[in-house]
Amino acid sequence: MLSQLPEQADPRRLCEQGKRYEGRVALQDLARLAPLLASTEGEAAFTLAFDHDETNRPRVRGTVRAELQLCCQRCLQSMPLVVDAAFQLSPVSGPEEAERLPAEYEPLLLDERLLHPMDLVEDELILAIPPAPRHSVADCGVDMADYRQEPAPEAPQRKENPFAALRMLKRDSED
Ligand SMILES: [Zn+2]
Repeated sequence: MLSQLPEQADPRRLCEQGKRYEGRVALQDLARLAPLLASTEGEAAFTLAFDHDETNRPRVRGTVRAELQLCCQRCLQSMPLVVDAAFQLSPVSGPEEAERLPAEYEPLLLDERLLHPMDLVEDELILAIPPAPRHSVADCGVDMADYRQEPAPEAPQRKENPFAALRMLKRDSED
């Protein structure tokens, strides 16, 4: 049975109740994700299923699908990233309990009893974003020959563009 995703809930209780959710969320409503995107237009589709496995361990299984618009760190144009992720979590109260989890589970560490279930969806989208997203060379707006040999002409823009500063840092760290 599908239910409306609660704002917050005790995940162990949701597991006892065998709750299942399916829905869509506007990307602009995900406050931690939104600043990482070139555009917050669009939605993510998700499913969340709370139950117990065959050893009676509480588990949360979820899927998230979305097309995110990231900012290419080379040409600063937007680039699409298709996310189609599945995850399996088990609620734990601390690191020791997390270490005892079977390998197929990610720990869902609960600082407090209550969880914002939408955080699980948002976390998965954030995890899917590479640290320095870049187009493939063929799709990128920057001509690689220019990029490698003539960085100087870009200099006047760097002061104004925080992403260009990031790119400089990245390049320095690669040297
Ligand atoms: Zn690019």
